[in-house]
Amino acid sequence: MKRHTALLATLALGILIGAWVVPHTASNDAVAAQLVVAEEGGIDKYKWWENNGSRFVFFAVFEGLYEDGVGDDVLDVIVPLVTPAPTDANPAPKPYRDADINFVYMCPLCHPASEAFLLYARRSPFRGQKATSLDTFGAGLPDELVKNIKSDKPAVRRDAIQHLIQRWVQRRIERTKLTERQRLQLTIELKLLKKAGLESLELFKRRRPGDYYRDLYADWKTCPTCEGGFGACAAPAPKADPINAAPPKQRSDAKPAKIDSPSAKAEPSEQNNDNPKFQIINGKIAPAAIPLILD
Ligand SMILES: [Zn+2]
Repeated sequence: MKRHTALLATLALGILIGAWVVPHTASNDAVAAQLVVAEEGGIDKYKWWENNGSRFVFFAVFEGLYEDGVGDDVLDVIVPLVTPAPTDANPAPKPYRDADINFVYMCPLCHPASEAFLLYARRSPFRGQKATSLDTFGAGLPDELVKNIKSDKPAVRRDAIQHLIQRWVQRRIERTKLTERQRLQLTIELKLLKKAGLESLELFKRRRPGDYYRDLYADWKTCPTCEGGFGACAAPAPKADPINAAPPKQRSDAKPAKIDSPSAKAEPSEQNNDNPKFQIINGKIAPAAIPLILD
C-alpha cells in the first residue's frame, strides 16, 4: 500500500514536472529522470537503504566526516554518549550514542546520515603507524561551525547541522560529476525523501505531550538533515573547500604521527562549470536563473 502511495505521489510529481518542463525546455533528461524514480517504485521511507538518494546522503556524510576529520568533541554533541539508568534487569547498562537527539526518527534522510555518524564514531586508528592513533583525514571543521554546533541554543545547533549536511552532500554532488539527468534524478529523490521525513516529524509532533519523540521535536520547525540534503541539490558551488588544508589532528592521547605529510597547502577548489540548469520550486522544475525558494 505504501509503495503504491509512493508511486502515485511520484507519478503525480512527475506529471507536474513534465507539464512545466516540456513546453519550456523540452528537456528529455528531466522527464527521463523522474520516470526512473517512478520505474524503481518510488521511494520507501521505511527501507531507506533501498533508496539511491538515502545512500547518497549516507556516503556523503561518511566521506565528509573523514575528509573534514570531525573530532570526538563534535560527535559528542551530534550523537552524544548516554548511559541508561540501571534497572533490576540491567544493573550495569552500557553507554550508547543517541542517534535521535539531532535527527528525525523514521526519516529516510536522517537515518542514513545518523548511521554514518555512528559508524564513524566506531572507527579505529589506522594500522601500522608506530604508536600513533591517527584515525581520520582532515584537520577538523571550521571553528565557527564547531562553535555553532556546540551552541547551547538548540535552534543554532540544528542550523549548524543543516549547514554541515549541506556542505557534505554538495561536495559529493560536485565530485561525482553527475550527468544532468542523474543530478535531476537525485534532486527529485531527495525532494521526495525530504517530504517523507517532514511527514514523520509532523506525526511525532502531533503525539500527546509526554511522548518522548513529541517532546524531543516540539520546537523543531523543520528537519536539518532533510533541508541540508535537498538544499545541496540547488545550492551554488562553494567558493573554497578548506579540506586537507592542514595535517589531521591526533587524538589527545596520541604521539605525533610519524608520517611524511604532504605540503600543507589547500587543495584548489573544484570549479563547478557544470552549473545546474534546473531547480525545483514548489514541486516544479524550473530554470536555475530563477531564485530558489525552498518550501
Ligand atoms: Zn530528516
